[in-house]
Amino acid sequence: MTEIPEWENQTHTDPIHVVGAGLAGCEAAWQLAEAGLSVRLFEMRPGRRTPVHTTDGFAELVCSNSLRGDSPGNAVGLLKKEMEHLGSLIIKSARETAVPAGGALAVDRTLFSERVGEKFSSHPLITVERMEVVGFPKGPAIVATGPLTSPALHATFQALLGEQALSFFDAVAPVVATDSLVHDRLFRASRYDKGDGADYLNAPLNREQYEAFIDELLAAERVDFRQFEQEDTSFFEGCLPIEVMAERGRDTLRFGPMKPVGLIDPATGSRPWAVVQLRQDDLAADHWNLVGFQTKLTYSEQKRIFQTIPGLEHVEFVRLGSIHRNTFICAPELLDNSLQMKKRPGLFLAGQLSGVEGYVESAAMGLLAGINAVQLATDKVITVPPPATAFGALIHHLTESEPAHFQPSNINFGLFPPLQKKIKKRDRGKFRSDQALTLLEEWKIKVNQDFAI
Ligand SMILES: Cc1cc2nc3c(=O)[nH]c(=O)nc-3n(C[C@H](O)[C@H](O)[C@H](O)COP(=O)(O)OP(=O)(O)OC[C@H]3O[C@@H](n4cnc5c(N)ncnc54)[C@H](O)[C@@H]3O)c2cc1C
Repeated sequence: MTEIPEWENQTHTDPIHVVGAGLAGCEAAWQLAEAGLSVRLFEMRPGRRTPVHTTDGFAELVCSNSLRGDSPGNAVGLLKKEMEHLGSLIIKSARETAVPAGGALAVDRTLFSERVGEKFSSHPLITVERMEVVGFPKGPAIVATGPLTSPALHATFQALLGEQALSFFDAVAPVVATDSLVHDRLFRASRYDKGDGADYLNAPLNREQYEAFIDELLAAERVDFRQFEQEDTSFFEGCLPIEVMAERGRDTLRFGPMKPVGLIDPATGSRPWAVVQLRQDDLAADHWNLVGFQTKLTYSEQKRIFQTIPGLEHVEFVRLGSIHRNTFICAPELLDNSLQMKKRPGLFLAGQLSGVEGYVESAAMGLLAGINAVQLATDKVITVPPPATAFGALIHHLTESEPAHFQPSNINFGLFPPLQKKIKKRDRGKFRSDQALTLLEEWKIKVNQDFAI
């Protein structure tokens, strides 16, 4: 275990440290090196492994081999397009090693990792050091150690930030589309009329409906926690899956996330037996989050069972629920919009650790951290991509979300600012995409005044 040396007065010729040769770290290192700066890229594998990586390769894809949809009319397709406009190493390598996958971009994972590795081994400005990093460097540096950041570095973060600011688990509640809800079966209200009194959508359940819902939960098929996720179950107590709560007692949910206190159903004039609350999830109010409904049910069971909730009979899921091991920081509290830590200016975080979710999003944040670190190291002013671009929308999510409810997110159009004019649903993706690519070009020109990407 080695601590990388700290230095007080970094000069422009000193190498910039990038920690973690995953998707984000590789993308960040590439941006720095291509801008003419030398880079020391630290990777702890193979000396120390994570519970899921199986190789010592660069940018290893730990699970699926898909980088998801490839049409610019969907948000992740747009993000990939934007990355390509900025010279993404990850997307270029993915295209070079793509396998047939319909409308998605999927890769041969071995060739993909090798392709990224080849680019590094032949780059004169990149040196790779195989060692675990346990402290923070003082000069401009990028930490991208991912959802399975090593325990020693995790402890360093915890010492700097405190327990509350760093999460071990990702508890994702399902998100549903507004226009798929049966609104006359729901009522708007906040518990005890807090906030503006009508912040939530509430799905009321009578006793019979609640009991049937609990029966379904108890019998439903689940995804097992992986071995390494079971190692410290104490972390689960704060974010128990709803099916585990139901197991602890038939009324546990009624006293937990489904509690009806402080709510009166206008249809009956009385308090329901239980409620499912939906909280607005995006600025445009197109998406709503099922509050406290993190779950390990299989996706098909979630779809089947949640459609038994009144008002959700025809619901369209924007995201399904999950819980998995994931180290990430409370970005809205700790990061500025250039991805630097407020407590350690010059230290950029990227990838899943910074609070995004997914291969493409992680690589995108690595790319942006790389660009920003170049600007900082060369004494330029850092400019942030506009919020109506996919890059800007992710940064907006990281820095402007409500800290108390912050959860990592995949890119989706719900993170973008509301549209300023009415556009048919089927045309919205293309409209947003065209607008985003124009804005990104303008931003790129601004950034290019300072340095060449
Ligand atoms: C089990 C699991 C499955 C996932 N499946 C998917 C999926 O199918 N699709 C999807 O889009 N996303 C998936 N994700 C989410 C996420 O997008 C990926 O984990 C992605 O690889 C994150 O990219 P990253 O660069 O932030 O981290 P990583 O790709 O994990 O890279 C981090 C690197 O840092 C190294 N490292 C860690 N600590 C240290 C240290 N102290 N010193 C030096 N090096 C260190 C690690 O060895 C690793 O190489 C999954 C996550 C997990 C945990």
